Amino acid sequence: MNTTQLSFLPYLEHQVASRPEGFIPVYEPVLDEVAERYVLDAVQSGWISSLGKYVGEFESLFAEFCDVKHAVSTSNGTTALHLILHAMGIGRGDEVIVPSLSFVASANAVHYTGAPPVFVDVDAETWTIDPVDVERTLSPRTRAVMPVHLYGHPADMDSINAIAATSDLFVVEDAAEAHGAAIDGRRTGALGTAGAFSFFANKVVTTGEGGMITTDDDNLAARMRMLRDHAMPPDKRYWHDEVGFNYRLTNLQAAVGVAQMARIDEFIARKRQIASLYDTLLADLP
Ligand SMILES: *Cc1c(COP(=O)(O)O)cnc(C)c1O
Repeated sequence: MNTTQLSFLPYLEHQVASRPEGFIPVYEPVLDEVAERYVLDAVQSGWISSLGKYVGEFESLFAEFCDVKHAVSTSNGTTALHLILHAMGIGRGDEVIVPSLSFVASANAVHYTGAPPVFVDVDAETWTIDPVDVERTLSPRTRAVMPVHLYGHPADMDSINAIAATSDLFVVEDAAEAHGAAIDGRRTGALGTAGAFSFFANKVVTTGEGGMITTDDDNLAARMRMLRDHAMPPDKRYWHDEVGFNYRLTNLQAAVGVAQMARIDEFIARKRQIASLYDTLLADLP
């Protein structure tokens, strides 16, 4: 346990003490004194909803981390996925291809749009979407494909992007578990049309609840920002041309996010250490 955890420590100690013998948690968030300081600053500033300075700062840090032009924060990873699909114009009459092995939110986000999630198999080795099965499942209604970088393992994006280019599909990365994962030095979130991340407590970095969308598409980013905020145009407030959503992240959550981004490389390095420990200790198993 990290000694820099201040008032969170008694709570975490209680959690560890009340755990069954041998219980291994999926993940334990590390919230340090910097996070406490930023949250306190946000509280004292009075900017607690979504207009405070930490929201923009968190988005800039995340865009830089993924090396994309735009990062759009959301209330969680599921709303991030839904906002992308909705902003792309996906709805009734369309189909979106998703892998059959994922957390349920991937398919739910598609279902919210009115388009059915169409399931395909995953690769036996990586547990990520099988491009051969994607190709077999394409129909005239297919508008998008959603590779999920499950457990931080990037899907075969070269193959998926090649299929998408041929068939004119959007590629929506579900990167909810894959902050910092990369293929040839290019990080997830920068490998499709847009990517969605989650900051739930058991993800690589957390804001309690929270999400982020990454994209290089200027129009899509502007449209998602507008739709996230009740479809309110920035230059014509309280004028709503379409139905929007409240999918905003709060300044309190973003304050935690900014503190987490300062340590994300360290968290990922630790995860890699643990992964190689499993590889070593399980090396004798078929
Ligand atoms: C966690 C997760 C989500 C949803 O994120 P929330 O922030 O919990 O809404 C979506 N897809 C995958 C693969 C996830 O692991």
